[in-house]
Amino acid sequence: MSSSSTQHETSGLIGHFIDGEVVSFEGERQADVFNPALGQVQAQVALASSMTVNEAVAAARAAFPAWSELSPLRRSRILFRFKELLDQHHEELARLITAEHGKVLSDAMGEVTRGIEIVEFACGAPYLLKTAFTDNIGGGIDNWNLRQALGVCAGITPFNFPVMVPLWMIPMALATGNTFVLKPSERDPSASLLMARLLKEAGLPDGVFNVVQGDKVAVDALLQHDDIEAISFVGSTPIAEYIHREATSRGKRVQALGGAKNHMIVMPDADLDQAADALIGAAYGSAGERCMAISIAVAVGDVADELIARLLPRIDALRVRNGVDPQADMGPLVTALHKGKVEGYIDSGVTEGAKLIVDGRGLQVPGAEQGFFVGATLFDQVTPEMTIYKEEIFGPVLGIVRVPDFASAVKLINAHEFGNGVSCFTRDGGVARAFARSIQVGMVGINVPIPVPMAWHSFGGWKRSLFGEHHAYGEEALRFYTRYKSVMQRWPDSIAKGPEFSMPTAK
Ligand code: NAD
Repeated sequence: MSSSSTQHETSGLIGHFIDGEVVSFEGERQADVFNPALGQVQAQVALASSMTVNEAVAAARAAFPAWSELSPLRRSRILFRFKELLDQHHEELARLITAEHGKVLSDAMGEVTRGIEIVEFACGAPYLLKTAFTDNIGGGIDNWNLRQALGVCAGITPFNFPVMVPLWMIPMALATGNTFVLKPSERDPSASLLMARLLKEAGLPDGVFNVVQGDKVAVDALLQHDDIEAISFVGSTPIAEYIHREATSRGKRVQALGGAKNHMIVMPDADLDQAADALIGAAYGSAGERCMAISIAVAVGDVADELIARLLPRIDALRVRNGVDPQADMGPLVTALHKGKVEGYIDSGVTEGAKLIVDGRGLQVPGAEQGFFVGATLFDQVTPEMTIYKEEIFGPVLGIVRVPDFASAVKLINAHEFGNGVSCFTRDGGVARAFARSIQVGMVGINVPIPVPMAWHSFGGWKRSLFGEHHAYGEEALRFYTRYKSVMQRWPDSIAKGPEFSMPTAK
């Protein structure tokens, strides 16, 4: 295989990052990368073959012994410098996100901040890796624990958070002594290369962090590679299920975070202006392309009409524009294909009998007529049998389901196959407490519409929103990225003479 060291910035080809260098390989397939607001191809991304993946894994494997033996404090110092570089390049990263994903710049800035917070948490890894020690469990014997790195880990990430979701994985995997291969989304691949460059600048040894750009071919090569010990995946549920099945069948450790359908209960005692503001931001922010977006408002009792009356002027005031416009509230969808899919869901809502109150289809944005825009869309009278209720739309489409009481709202949500995020707007402490305890969802908000946990509280859903035992980042990531070991020790002066045949017990 012949390789050429390619600067992606100059050639227009977005390459891989292997063993400390940006590379692409002759004969590799390529895919278009769009500017979604303009609807134009702006670059090509290389799509890794299995041979490219093998090179990246080989580099990560070669780097593992030295990196895992480096003291946790020295690893963390490199991450600390990486955090400083991320701060310096904060806006550059956000602009890359807006250019390839389409979300508005202020939202992209927020995404980078949430990613940096995980790096800040990972800088404390020397403390986190500190384990338990029991002195003298009996007869001069001590017992303690180690948490040891797994080896080469891989991350496969979705298009909707090209900086934050990779940063859910990279800092914790590296801080705990693993080496890493990232396969970012082929729709917005550039930010991964900038982060790789910053890690190198921070002093990360070559080969510890690698990026392979690509699609299913690269993912399958990672799944099948014997030297990959663990896989973290974030993306849609069918692919999460596939990754979990394939990786576990090959004895790999895996966490696979999937899709969502997030509900927000609006109780009759809620402040309806606050609830309407929350719904507008949570349903239409990032054009609904968030796994924590609210796509169903569950209106309890007789609040639905009042709630709709408060939503309509807010929807009217939404500024849907190119995300680089500082006035923009909402940008385009990521691709023309995805735009068509979201419009198809709106069609199906109409066909299946939901009441379309605001129709975002056919929106034209002046100066960005070719962009992949769908306007904010609102349905009333949505019922649980409808496709727009059951399936994740991942676009700016909010549906209202009317239920008579709180118990029906909880029953409805608990019956849904997804369980990523949920929220309840109420002033009643008893309702809030019952909600938090009885709802079968991984991340719960009480008067908080998008309850994305902080870096030191882990992120993850229940049911078909997560496959595997560990949530992402926080202390769950420490457990995911390390193997737990127990060590018992004694010295000859405390060893009794002769063999023992009974089960050893503390003496
Ligand atoms: P996706 O499942 O299409 O892609 C995710 C990753 O899998 C990408 O890297 C992609 O290249 C790869 N991939 C795609 N098709 C594949 C295939 N057939 N075989 C192997 N790999 C494949 O998801 P997306 O469209 O990039 O992202 C949106 C989805 O991600 C939504 O469903 C959203 O809810 C979910 N998501 C979930 C979370 C969470 O924390 N639960 C967070 C962000 C996004």
